Amino acid sequence: MKATVWSGRNTVQVENVPDPQLLSQRDAIVKISSTAICGSDLHLYDGYMPTMKRGDILGHEFMGEIVEVGKGVSNLKVGDRVVVPFPIACGGCAQCAAGNFSVCENSNPNADMAAGMFGHPTAGIFGYSHLTGGYAGGQAEYARVPFADVGPIKIENDDLTDEQVLFLSDVFPTGYMGAEMADIQPGDTVAVWGAGAVGQFAAASARMLGAERVIVIDRFPYRLKVAADAGSETLNYEEHPNVVETLKELTGGRGPDRCIEAVGMEAHHGHTHVYAYDRVKQAARMETERAYALREAIMACRSGGTVSIVGVFGGFVDKFPIGSLMNRSITLRAGQCHVHRYMRPLLERIEKGEIDPTFVHTHTLPLDEAPHGYETFKHKTDDCLKVILKP
Ligand code: NAD
Ligand code: ZN
Ligand code: ZN
Repeated sequence: MKATVWSGRNTVQVENVPDPQLLSQRDAIVKISSTAICGSDLHLYDGYMPTMKRGDILGHEFMGEIVEVGKGVSNLKVGDRVVVPFPIACGGCAQCAAGNFSVCENSNPNADMAAGMFGHPTAGIFGYSHLTGGYAGGQAEYARVPFADVGPIKIENDDLTDEQVLFLSDVFPTGYMGAEMADIQPGDTVAVWGAGAVGQFAAASARMLGAERVIVIDRFPYRLKVAADAGSETLNYEEHPNVVETLKELTGGRGPDRCIEAVGMEAHHGHTHVYAYDRVKQAARMETERAYALREAIMACRSGGTVSIVGVFGGFVDKFPIGSLMNRSITLRAGQCHVHRYMRPLLERIEKGEIDPTFVHTHTLPLDEAPHGYETFKHKTDDCLKVILKP
């Protein structure tokens, strides 16, 4: 089959690789109809996840048709149309039982490596480095789905297009969880850093959960326009470099009640010394992240408010404003999305017409053009917000 493989920093290729096979009774093989590129893939593409190997198959956002199914999967049959959540979860461990699927205790064969980095292991993730299990991803013609009795959700309504349901695999649930973790109360003002697909869904979800005002922060006018069209206020930090002060001005001096970080380890900032400092340290591998947006989120948040992190971080951060967090009673929450928890309720919201996830979709390319898709998405050219690849 054809698959998108990682072959070094800033290089992906579409290559012929062996077809996946059932390895366990709880596996299924999915013939992929649509698969997307995520900001998380950019962290791999840009070389910030050290446990990638040449030839690893990328992709964790995918859907398609079941073409083979193990004997242990009684809820799916050949021909079913499914969306697959990006974390791989067994469904039976203590964490799965608690609904914390992205920290499943049974799905990461490289648990020791992850524990070495994080103190404890995390779940396996499709196409997302050896730290998360080294599983082949879904930017390919086929994928093997472990624990297929637990993860994939069947889409029975043929009227729903792939584009309407594909984002249930990650970015819609992730944005939703970002808003849920923020503990939004009716009337709250919520600030969202990052107008990528994750930030866009966080902003939309914040409104669903009762926020009165949502302010989305980014530097790309075309991305901010998508947020504005969906009902958010916007703040372009190239026009207003002091984001913390600007947010205070917009909120009567108090700061947003809830702050959602949807940027992650590669945050950009052009206007301060800390940016240069972070770049140097990150390049020298002396710190793993540029936590620029995270620092702003904490400093901007009103006292007693909540900061919710869905942007991905991989290791350690310098100049973390622990004094602000501690002295001002701020609650900090974070997580890789427990996608399994949210797929069904969010599918229902799509079916009821409460949200149309296609508002973030800008590009469709054949799988063969994945390298072009990565470049366009990375550099935010051609007003690119979300790329779907068609195998
Ligand atoms: P994206 O690259 O499309 O969007 C990121 C946006 O952040 C860009 O528009 C960029 O301009 C903006 N940005 C950069 N620096 C900024 C700053 N200092 N202030 C404000 N905005 C800034 O990526 P995406 O697909 O939307 O993903 C966003 C983040 O969410 C990534 O870190 C990704 O890894 C992470 N993610 C997390 C989960 C999870 O389960 N927690 C799931 C999917 C993605
Ligand atoms: Zn993703
Ligand atoms: Zn589990």
